[in-house]
Amino acid sequence: MNSQETPIWEDNLYLGSWKSGVGERFAVTAPATGETIAQLRLATTADVDRAASIAKAAERQWSEASFDQKAEILRRAAALLRDRAPEINAWNTRECGSIGPKADFELQATYEQAQMSAALPMQPYGSIFPSSMPGRRNYWRRVPLGTVGVIAPWNFPILLAMRSVFPALAMGNCVILKPDVKSAVCGGALMAQLLQDAGLPEGVFHVLPGGPEVGEALVEHPLIKMISFTGSTAVGRKIGETCGRMLKKAALELGGNNAQVVMDDADLNTASSCGAWGSFLHQGQICMQTGRHLVHSSIADEYIELLAKRAKNLNCGDPATEQVHLGPLINEAQARRVEDIVNRSVAMGAKVIAGGKRNGCYYEATVLAEVTEDMPAFAEEIFGPVAPVTTFDSDADACALVNQSPYGLAAAIHSKSTERAQRLANQLHVGMIHINDQTINNEFQVPFGGMGSSGNSGRFGGPANIEEFTTSQWVSVMDEGVQYPF
Ligand code: NAD
Repeated sequence: MNSQETPIWEDNLYLGSWKSGVGERFAVTAPATGETIAQLRLATTADVDRAASIAKAAERQWSEASFDQKAEILRRAAALLRDRAPEINAWNTRECGSIGPKADFELQATYEQAQMSAALPMQPYGSIFPSSMPGRRNYWRRVPLGTVGVIAPWNFPILLAMRSVFPALAMGNCVILKPDVKSAVCGGALMAQLLQDAGLPEGVFHVLPGGPEVGEALVEHPLIKMISFTGSTAVGRKIGETCGRMLKKAALELGGNNAQVVMDDADLNTASSCGAWGSFLHQGQICMQTGRHLVHSSIADEYIELLAKRAKNLNCGDPATEQVHLGPLINEAQARRVEDIVNRSVAMGAKVIAGGKRNGCYYEATVLAEVTEDMPAFAEEIFGPVAPVTTFDSDADACALVNQSPYGLAAAIHSKSTERAQRLANQLHVGMIHINDQTINNEFQVPFGGMGSSGNSGRFGGPANIEEFTTSQWVSVMDEGVQYPF
């Protein structure tokens, strides 16, 4: 697109193809500067109904498209992600405050999701079961659900939308995506262009940028057969309630308060590096963020010193114009929330060892020591660049501290004895555990998901996608009709 041209999403919505929208115009602002960088047409609740009807009409044709046609479109989408990397990354940086390496990582992970999804349509999708009835053949097969609603957050808006969109399409569903308005260009409009240019037939994919009311209308729409939601636990719970009432399938990937356990025999250099990456990457705005550093009391001083040294080396600034480690938080309200968690914890006795200051949307990489279980920095999901350190004296204490959180997304354990670390891992109620590594790990081919308040056991990735984005059907075949007593 030439820079003089009006982007298509300014006046149009992608409802299976670009159509003029009637909703309000939304000013997209760069969190780093507060400047308006684009205008976007918002969807209305009436658009949810429009999209659902268009998708319904496209369901059959798409589900019956051959497996190699689906695979080819997804492979083309993957190739286009690479071709358009400069444009997509520039939007990710300006619209979401992402630093270059985060934008690169997100794009690469989304590319891998597209590639993996392109391989799904050629996987076996059923089994043949024996029958006690002579002459009967029992097929059991996975079938598409129909239309899937995907509701995505703003923090990794491309990956967390497309990790559901691509596999749902691969399994023969139509998809309606509702991105967050704070990330609706890179996490919505650009993805509509991508799938259109990849050759996805009209009517199959839709993007409805909007707020909670649009999300609610999507969840409540009877033509939408599944909701794949990534976001906060509070909203996930509400969506789960509605889906439960409607008997609708729901995959809920929610918040976290992830612990990194550092045992007394750990390599503190690597543990502190993992801790810094886990707490500060993308300003801590990651569901798998290391929100609690649980450190054996005998090595805590040394660990805190190493972690604080790493934190003090990190600079904040506008990633669109400078080389920085930390960009802005998504908005000032979010930065104030982080500040409030730190201030309330300090008032209760926590010590600021590094950082601890806010400047508008920016918050410094912060290390807090002497954090106890009753403090907000321990108990709440921070979603900001803060590393709270709490000490323990035995492996049993560490286990109790990790499991005390109602969340159960990810954990890391550092010890030179992988046997000891695995003994602890076996007792943790979390969906993902990384030994001698950090909590923010994502591999497209491995099922991803949490326990407890972090989700309802939905899993994304690799073989889990086949089950997640389909339902099953038993078909029995008798060559000749059967006579029963009536
Ligand atoms: P959020 O729940 O406020 O919003 C997420 C999405 O839901 C947005 O698109 C929003 O518009 C929509 N929404 C809001 N209210 C809704 C409603 N009543 N009905 C339907 N949709 C509604 O979350 P957020 O603050 O944007 O994102 C941060 C949260 O997401 C954190 O808690 C984080 O841990 C979590 N998260 C989880 C994962 C994971 O994979 N488990 C990944 C990233 C983020």
